[in-house]
Amino acid sequence: MRRKRNVKIVATLGPASSTHEMISALHRAGADVFRLNMSHGTHEEQAERHRIIRAVEAEAGSPVAILADLQGPKLRVGTFAGGAVELVPGQGFRLDLDPAPGDARRVQLPHREILDALEPGATLLVNDGKLRLKVRSCGADFAECEVVVGGMISDRKGVNVPDVVLPLAALSEKDRDDLEFACALGVDWLALSFVQRPEDVAEARALAAGRAAIMAKIEKPAAIRAFDDILAVADGVMVARGDLGVELPVQNVPPIQKRLVNKCRAAAKPVIVATQMLESMIESPMPTRAEVSDVATAIYEGADAVMLSAESAAGNYPVEAVTTMNDVACEVENDPAYTEMIESSRKARRATVADGIVAAAREIAETTKVKAICCFSESGTTAALVARERPRVPILALTSVQATARRLCLHWGTTCVIVEPVNRFKYAVLAAIRSARSLGLAQARDNVIVTAGVPFNTPGSTNILRVAPCEERLIFASEPE
Ligand code: PGA
Ligand code: MN
Repeated sequence: MRRKRNVKIVATLGPASSTHEMISALHRAGADVFRLNMSHGTHEEQAERHRIIRAVEAEAGSPVAILADLQGPKLRVGTFAGGAVELVPGQGFRLDLDPAPGDARRVQLPHREILDALEPGATLLVNDGKLRLKVRSCGADFAECEVVVGGMISDRKGVNVPDVVLPLAALSEKDRDDLEFACALGVDWLALSFVQRPEDVAEARALAAGRAAIMAKIEKPAAIRAFDDILAVADGVMVARGDLGVELPVQNVPPIQKRLVNKCRAAAKPVIVATQMLESMIESPMPTRAEVSDVATAIYEGADAVMLSAESAAGNYPVEAVTTMNDVACEVENDPAYTEMIESSRKARRATVADGIVAAAREIAETTKVKAICCFSESGTTAALVARERPRVPILALTSVQATARRLCLHWGTTCVIVEPVNRFKYAVLAAIRSARSLGLAQARDNVIVTAGVPFNTPGSTNILRVAPCEERLIFASEPE
């Protein structure tokens, strides 16, 4: 199956999207990657979603990626007796360690080290910065606050403390537990929340031990400062605009988004633009014009993927939200200005043979009528390089490694096909033209580009580019062994 757009769609699953019927509908509407948010739900619920996604993948007959998003050292309040309360400006509100359900006067903040680090005068932001509390007095295990900006506060809402440097480890005990659980399930990507240092990524990578690729969520000022070093050790990046826009002034987010998307593309690593993309669709079947424009902007900027959070996890219109993203993507990518913007923003590449081959493939695709770039990529490295070139024709990544095919679902424009391992270039070409034809990308009289590394089974060794006719008879007759 091949989508009619290049940008990928990530849909978060949750209570609104956990049945086989719904997950299948989201996939058909355009979701390429499913996100399991480890901040919510039980392991049993996540395991069930994982099982359904794999069943939907098998029905579709094409790879689907699963991204498990670890909560990270995110601060959250406990629960409330009635699920939610309204805080009124001027009122007092206490945070403490007592797990008893909260009310309009107090709630648990189950982080002893944070309560300990707070100082009078510090600001706490609740629920993506919508509510604002000011610390009046505090002790080792409580903080008495005043409500500065009020509103509804409900179970497990997030808390940010921008003024205080927090003594937090990269992975909490829950994260380590969730990481092991997700890897054992067989997820393809692990996203790390609140990354601050490259060492945070290295720590998760060591624990994942090759079982999943590692994505760094950029949502802390410290991660912006250390971004180049974090990008160097991560496999992908998420511009996590929700917390980023709480930790930093909101007007800083758009230029950061542009800069991060550019840097990720230059590094041939996939980047997701996330959060509030179609926020109003949680409650409405129609997005606002501004939201549509935001999704379009991320696509014009060259992001690999756009993401739905609560829209698909907990909203009333999950399928409509995916359909909206798909429709916006198709429209943007049909705009000649999109091609111009993508092509004029191409970055300098490294001086390797593989980089040269993929650039040549893209140039041939621009100047002749080839129908697709078919790349053999066991590790996924060459496919990522082809995606970085943002060619005008479809990218077909062929691999015998299922994990590679699934991880590549996140990369711009990449359609993945799992093939038998090949040991002769002739058979690689045959597999490529068969796949291209069966996906409807090419017909007998068309040409496609095939790239591969010979000898086979040496990762990152792409060194052949062949413009091949899509007729098997001609390949059998002409191709050198
Ligand atoms: P979250 O991450 O949804 O896990 O908080 C995304 C963001 O902060 O934007
Ligand atoms: Mn976040």
